[in-house]
Amino acid sequence: MALRFFNTYSREIEEFEPSDPTTRPIKMYTCGPTVYSRAHIGNFRAYIFEDLLQRHLELRSYKVRRVMNITDVEDKTIRGAREAGVPLQKFTEQFKDAFFEDAHTLRIKRADEYPTATDQHYIDRMVEMIRVLISNGLAYQADDNSVYFRINKFPDYGKLAHFDLTQLQSTGRVKHDEYDKEHIGDFALWKAWDQEDGDVKWDSPWGPGRPGWHIECSAMSTALLGDQIDIHCGGVDNIFPHHEAEIAQSEGVTGKKFVRYWLHCAHLLVDGQKMAKSLGNFYTVPDVLAKGYTGRELRYALLRVHYRVPLNFTWEGMNEARESLDRIDEWLVRLRDIAQKQNAQRSSPNAQGLIRKPDFENALDDDLNISAALGVLFESIRDTNRAMDQNEMDSASATAWLDWWNRINTVLGLEVEADMVIPTEVAQLAEERENARREKNWKRSDELREQIFALGWEARDTKEGPKLTRRGGSG
Ligand code: AMP
Ligand code: ZN
Repeated sequence: MALRFFNTYSREIEEFEPSDPTTRPIKMYTCGPTVYSRAHIGNFRAYIFEDLLQRHLELRSYKVRRVMNITDVEDKTIRGAREAGVPLQKFTEQFKDAFFEDAHTLRIKRADEYPTATDQHYIDRMVEMIRVLISNGLAYQADDNSVYFRINKFPDYGKLAHFDLTQLQSTGRVKHDEYDKEHIGDFALWKAWDQEDGDVKWDSPWGPGRPGWHIECSAMSTALLGDQIDIHCGGVDNIFPHHEAEIAQSEGVTGKKFVRYWLHCAHLLVDGQKMAKSLGNFYTVPDVLAKGYTGRELRYALLRVHYRVPLNFTWEGMNEARESLDRIDEWLVRLRDIAQKQNAQRSSPNAQGLIRKPDFENALDDDLNISAALGVLFESIRDTNRAMDQNEMDSASATAWLDWWNRINTVLGLEVEADMVIPTEVAQLAEERENARREKNWKRSDELREQIFALGWEARDTKEGPKLTRRGGSG
């Protein structure tokens, strides 16, 4: 079945047809972090959704070329650097590093390029684009020396957000920085330097200043991916004005349709409210790790709900993620065990046939329906566990199931950390210990616990039964 995505532009589910998949990769642009503080896990929900999208396209044999920009100059980064009393680059560097560290913890695949807005190469391109927009009558320099986009001259303005421009009629001089604009909705392409900007400035035909946030993305995406891109993503808060403005600027310069598919993810919420820096209701990745959870568990918690459905972040949700991963891990241990046993078990005609291989992938084809896909996985786990309980799984079937897992896991990215893979010897001792406990042979059980301990593992007896954890690890 063909891939289908909900396109924010049309507000419809559309069949995915990249412009020319045979000769070149899919061009994907994803709005990256504004590096004025450490990104919160709400931001990472967006990046994980984009990661899922890229991985699924790759599972479906598409090549993907993904660009994620780093916004290192705008109002918040300038203010932050000024307050910290350090140069802009030095101020943003620490948050860039933190972003890469957190993305790695969450197993987000690296983009092909991470352009930064302050790179002179891109500043030159922004200046060039603004020059073309002025010559096309789509932009003007106002009395405050800043350059603005003239939204009334771009008939499609508002189409992405399904926004009625008449709602944007000026109601008077509301804000100081809107005095000089022709229309209240006109947005800045180039902001004239003022004292608060300190030494953050670049030369331009319109005097010293700095780019507006929106033109940064138009310049970096067209510079690296060309005039037309296949997929552009972000969180829903990016739709207006940011992405609307990107369309106006890019199409205003190139005269070509900028983006074929616009995909936006719903927010991560806390108590029903958007997780946001400004509301102070946020957690960072290190905050979650400090509570004893792993990056893998957080990845799962942020991944498991369909990207267009708002997701409420709770610690119960984190615990559920842990339980789900435990189920997967235990299942894998059992399968590996049988796979290694070389047909020791009675062969079952249907153990392999239980694999509903295409269902997982077909669910993801349907606008990345991850909840349905995970439903297939957990049903499969239940069915195979039953088959294994009844000794109806031979090693060939177990291997086939492991192959299936390896394939779907290229999308999920939930492989167990190397130090969490339980060695067969330890697993065997644990099984013996369970038998001893069942027979109430406590002495033998304790001996086995010690042997397991000597191999670097701990056998814990929990409410759900015995568990193995790495000695000193969080389990
Ligand atoms: P920013 O650093 O504010 O430019 O945001 C980076 C990305 O995170 C953008 O794609 C935003 O739409 C997205 N984002 C911000 N807050 C949330 C949230 N609470 N849930 C999901 N995505 C978010
Ligand atoms: Zn952007």
